[in-house]
Amino acid sequence: MQTQNLGYPRIGNQRQLKKACEQYWAGKIDLAELNLVARKIKEENWQTQLEAGIDLIPCNDFSLYDQVLDTSLLLGAIPQRYSPILSQIKSNSEVDLYFAMARGYQKDGLDITAMEMTKWLDTNYHYIVPEFTAAQEFRIFNENIFSEYNSAKLKLGEKAKPVLLGPVSYLLLGKEKEAGFERVDLIKKLVPVYVEIINRLRQQGVKWIQLDEPCLGLDLSKKEKEAFEYAYRAIANRVSGIKLLVATYFDALLDNTQLAVNLPVAALHVDLVRAPEQLDEILELVPDGLQLSLGIVDGRNVWKNDYEKSLNLIGKAVAKLGASNLIIAPSCSLLHSPIDLDLETALDPEIKNWMAFAKQKLKELNELKQISEGNHDLLAANKNAIDSRRSSQKVHKQAVKDRLATITEADATRKSAFPVRQKLHHERFNLPSFPTTTIGSFPQTDDIRQLRARFKKGDLTVEQYEKAIEQATVETIRWQEEIGLDVLVHGEFERNDMVEYFGEQLDGFLFTKNGWVQSYGSRCVKPPVIYGDVSRPADMTVRWSTFAAAQTEKPMKGMLTGPVTILQWSFVRDDQPRDVTTNQIAFAIRDEVLALEKAGIGIVQIDEAAIREGLPLRKSKHPHYLDWAVKAFRITASGVQDKTQIHTHMCYSEFNNIIEHIAAMDADVITIETSRSQMELLQAFAHFEYPNEIGPGVYDIHSPRVPGTEEMASLLAKAADLLPARNLWVNPDCGLKTRKWPETKAALENMVAAAKQAREQI
Ligand code: GLN
Ligand code: ZN
Repeated sequence: MQTQNLGYPRIGNQRQLKKACEQYWAGKIDLAELNLVARKIKEENWQTQLEAGIDLIPCNDFSLYDQVLDTSLLLGAIPQRYSPILSQIKSNSEVDLYFAMARGYQKDGLDITAMEMTKWLDTNYHYIVPEFTAAQEFRIFNENIFSEYNSAKLKLGEKAKPVLLGPVSYLLLGKEKEAGFERVDLIKKLVPVYVEIINRLRQQGVKWIQLDEPCLGLDLSKKEKEAFEYAYRAIANRVSGIKLLVATYFDALLDNTQLAVNLPVAALHVDLVRAPEQLDEILELVPDGLQLSLGIVDGRNVWKNDYEKSLNLIGKAVAKLGASNLIIAPSCSLLHSPIDLDLETALDPEIKNWMAFAKQKLKELNELKQISEGNHDLLAANKNAIDSRRSSQKVHKQAVKDRLATITEADATRKSAFPVRQKLHHERFNLPSFPTTTIGSFPQTDDIRQLRARFKKGDLTVEQYEKAIEQATVETIRWQEEIGLDVLVHGEFERNDMVEYFGEQLDGFLFTKNGWVQSYGSRCVKPPVIYGDVSRPADMTVRWSTFAAAQTEKPMKGMLTGPVTILQWSFVRDDQPRDVTTNQIAFAIRDEVLALEKAGIGIVQIDEAAIREGLPLRKSKHPHYLDWAVKAFRITASGVQDKTQIHTHMCYSEFNNIIEHIAAMDADVITIETSRSQMELLQAFAHFEYPNEIGPGVYDIHSPRVPGTEEMASLLAKAADLLPARNLWVNPDCGLKTRKWPETKAALENMVAAAKQAREQI
């Protein structure tokens, strides 16, 4: 049996790559220095994997920005608009072209937009979306993969295994930039380039090459399935003397199983963490000669592997295929795990003993291999850790479980139907038509950030800190009153992040010092870890919301983050289903909603920014997810009296196939992102005849651009064509924390003017 890794985190254990890239972009270091940092990270990663005893170690998994963008550069899929970057400015290097594709290029008299970025399947990693045209050609443009293999070979010898995004997933994850063709049809043009790359690697001495085909875990059309068959047959016919490994991950193969196991390749990797149940069928269908790589160590979470469970899966596979036909591996690239648990010196030792980051996961693989080969001494320590977690009082809180056990439909249903509530809200708040509001946060200036940082470090007393936050809050409230907003917010100055702020105050969460994971390019996130039953020991937001409410006569919204979003942006427990954890969070937030209501807050907004992004990869799994996700929101929102108005906010707004579920959330008011689509995204709500109130964002907060009154008024008019005017609110697309004050003020003044116009005209 062999062990392999599919990819290792590349940001460096002190986020060296982030820092080096940002310095390079700022012109503070040159390319040689950037390359040096990159080289050091690669060498260290290889060393770590060697020391962990891994048999097949990835190379070309490193990237200065994104591995999909690397693939586009390798294949010469470079959109036309970037051609001036190398041709006109001779001092630019290929790396500058590469970063221009990632980040846009605004200098030397050029103004070229970046390529689009989107989420990598169902992860929080974002990749740069390949762009294709009808006349798309491919050729080897960039040599990195070859030079990186050469360095890896020096260090790793035959263990070095280049990783490359497979040809079909590369096409499917991209986008047609013009009409008149289907990108999957480009496979005929693409395959010859893959053949050339693979043959060159073979000449360099490569024994194994890993082709990532995560799209085998998605719903595929007949044509897409045929593209897989065609591509791999064509490659197999034209390369020899090199072993191809196709890697799938993030979901079960389901109806693609036959297709996947019959690809003419040496090995297939399957994700048995997400889908352990698929092993039986796969073992039934595996043809002679296909090696199987079992993804048994979770590449996307922070928990120690349960050896007993893994050995069970390995045992089944050994019985059927024999150990020599097996490879064991993490479920997916370790890109999605934090790097090194050893750096976490402040964690509760009991809980730390339940965890494993990327480096520790490699050790687990090695141990699993040794145990399957008979070294049973390695079992005890793992069993102890797993047992300790299973029974620990830090994880299991009977009161939380009891409460969940008694959920009834009534817990998830508002007392009266929306029309009854709406009437009460009109009487209570007496708002004009087209009421104006914002999504919650106001600009987080350097001053505000420093304030929080200094307080955290202990340089400010609680009194000093709170006084300063109070001052910022009061100023923001005065200012909202002056420009005439109708429903105010307190500005969220006390919050660093909309999930962390709540996680820090809830039981069952922990925070790491160094648990960074790449989100995109140089941006890293440090998700909280949910390790135990979640409960709310004390009020979380009442202090700031009541302080703010007392400063004004106008209605003040209480601001909370919803349960699905908190779950989605955290590392979650793997010892209970996601919906159970979500319901625990839902009850905790419900109690906070009730505490706000009791303190006199009449409007509470529960942000569910991530409900849409949590959708499973396979359509067949959508109904179940939407069911529990919507129910969790309803549990959070339904404790209140009819006269309390519940808002929700969602950033990502492609609601086409899920609109009935959005409606089922039954929020009194929903605010969504629509301005960039010119209200097109409202169509789904219009077709559905969405019954509740809705605030389609009238300006894009992602850019400093200040939209004019007319522009916003015309968007409002469009919205009023689609939905009953009496149900419409006026607000920006999202929170304003990333903006600066001057543009925020100008934009909101224009927005209020646009609402006034709408009141007169519509
Ligand atoms: N209330 C949050 C804010 O305004 C919402 C942010 C979000 O939706 N991402 O910052
Ligand atoms: Zn948002």
